[in-house]
Amino acid sequence: MNQSNTSLIDQFGRKVDYIRLSITDRCDFRCVYCMAEDMTFLPRDEVLTLEECARLVQVFVGLGVSKVRITGGEPLVRKNALWLFQEIGQLPGLRELVTTTNGSQLEHMAKDLRAANVSRINISVDSLNAARFKKITRTGDLDKVLRGLQAAKQAGFKGIKLNTVLMRGFNDDEAESLVEFAVNQEIDIAFIEEMPLGEVDHTRESTYVSNADTLARLQKQFTLVSSTENTGGPAKYWRIANSQTKIGFISPHSHNFCEACNRVRITCKGELYLCLGQEDKVDLMPLLREYPHDDQPLLEAILRSMSIKPKGHDFDLRRAEPAVIRFMSVTGG
Ligand code: SAM
Ligand code: SF4
Repeated sequence: MNQSNTSLIDQFGRKVDYIRLSITDRCDFRCVYCMAEDMTFLPRDEVLTLEECARLVQVFVGLGVSKVRITGGEPLVRKNALWLFQEIGQLPGLRELVTTTNGSQLEHMAKDLRAANVSRINISVDSLNAARFKKITRTGDLDKVLRGLQAAKQAGFKGIKLNTVLMRGFNDDEAESLVEFAVNQEIDIAFIEEMPLGEVDHTRESTYVSNADTLARLQKQFTLVSSTENTGGPAKYWRIANSQTKIGFISPHSHNFCEACNRVRITCKGELYLCLGQEDKVDLMPLLREYPHDDQPLLEAILRSMSIKPKGHDFDLRRAEPAVIRFMSVTGG
């Protein structure tokens, strides 16, 4: 393979060393903020094969990417997903392999994922009430997810974090109990503001809960200590006094993180999106399929893409149509 050591620096001087790869748009859940009830998924031949995913990641790692997040859709429902984790987990130069999952498959996969060098895992849990959990996910089984969490703890991941989207009228009264749960479990939790990605069955404005409001509520019950930790993303972290637990607030509606953006996203169709909230992209699938034994065209296209990475994004909840038509399950969260 002809690889260069050139690293990925965009037109604003930001170094890209983190990729998020969605390996499927399919999912066993239908979370109300993520998908419409009646979703049409992509035909299989329009989705990257696992071999193509592995090749892409290898090229990115050759370009200096040191952190890879595998996401979806639900990454762990993709057949043979473990093989991909194993391939990526042994790439020289990779510092961190992580994944975001709804937890439904963790009970039987956690141990193998840890053995494949997955170091940290994010599990989405929006409610600790089984009936509500079902209402939000439409198909999910809370008990199964919680058993998955226990399996992940036993497997010895270095970091486990819950991801929670609070929605007015659905689960916005659970912020405190979810944090308490995280403290008791000695894991972290992040609150993600709902983003207007794709058309769902409610208006985003009606359910939006700002992280500023959530923080203010939590500060009434917990002693939160501001942390300077910065992962180059839209998260601001706080520590809970006298506990292991960190709380992250992922506030994509605020702009103050774009200057430090270090990431790009690849959809399960092989589209390289330079920003979660913008349409600028490069299609990598044609290059993967046209040049099955030559990585140079792929590598050059990725390097060229750095000149179109936008300065920042622009979400507006009051707009009638979604800011970005694609669903998070296609782009990868
Ligand atoms: N299925 C996995 C899961 O749920 O963790 C991984 C993919 S999911 C798209 C990744 C993250 O995106 C989840 O934590 C989910 O809560 C979040 N998410 C999905 N749609 C969202 C939206 N419209 N706004 C904010 N967060 C969203
Ligand atoms: Fe599936 Fe994750 Fe989207 Fe929920 S948030 S529908 S679990 S992809």
